[in-house]
Amino acid sequence: MRPVCLAIGGSDSSGGAGIQADLAAFADLGVKGCCAITALTAQSPLQVKRIEPSPLIQLEAEIDSILDYYDVAAVKTGMLYDAARVRLVAHMLEQRHGGRPLVVDPVMLATSGACLLDAAALDVLIRELLPQARLVTPNIPEAAALLGRPLDDAVGAAKALAGQLNTAVLLKGGHGKRGVLLDVLCETNGETALFTHERKAWDIEQGHGTGCSLAAAITAVLAQGKKLATAVAGAESWLQKKRRGLTSPQKRG
Ligand code: PLP
Repeated sequence: MRPVCLAIGGSDSSGGAGIQADLAAFADLGVKGCCAITALTAQSPLQVKRIEPSPLIQLEAEIDSILDYYDVAAVKTGMLYDAARVRLVAHMLEQRHGGRPLVVDPVMLATSGACLLDAAALDVLIRELLPQARLVTPNIPEAAALLGRPLDDAVGAAKALAGQLNTAVLLKGGHGKRGVLLDVLCETNGETALFTHERKAWDIEQGHGTGCSLAAAITAVLAQGKKLATAVAGAESWLQKKRRGLTSPQKRG
């Protein structure tokens, strides 16, 4: 029987990030995917044009429907949008998903610059959702926001953040400037694992939603009962293979 994973996050109309990326990763990695939508976004890989938050009562009913029916093995959260939605999700998971794997991708800004989590929500995320997480997967700017200071070296920052949050951290290095990209996994016992990839000449569409896909892939492998370091290693190599293909045609001129 396929394990069931639940993704809670925003819908991306261009299909590359958000819930659409999560469900694609779940399907690819052999788990049954369900979703609960925090907000609808009208976007292309270049620009977020409009965001319409889902009514809280709708979000609650979506999560409730899934948790009522399925024995959900693992949950992933992505774009949570504001404090009310973070609080609702944290409360429901605490009541109904306690002890099972939760991967929190602390989505704050789209690469295109749009704000996907308002400032007041950050504190609620840190206090109410992150203590429940098996893993948090910030990129460099998100890690700096969570730590409350700019990062110096990646390994030191991942260790500091894991200590501060008492949660395992996968610090994603895609926003760095070097030719070799470094992701650092730091577990709560201080063990670290490094994942390096040569930076590829990905176009904007190939890069769009990579963070969502990686966190969803980790969730899918955790749902299959694997250890965290194994799940992260598996998801890292899955993502590198996945993104090799050419992208779809765009309008010219
Ligand atoms: N839109 C939604 C709904 C997302 O969840 C995310 C990232 O998590 C993004 C857009 C941003 O994707 P990117 O920064 O890769 O463009």
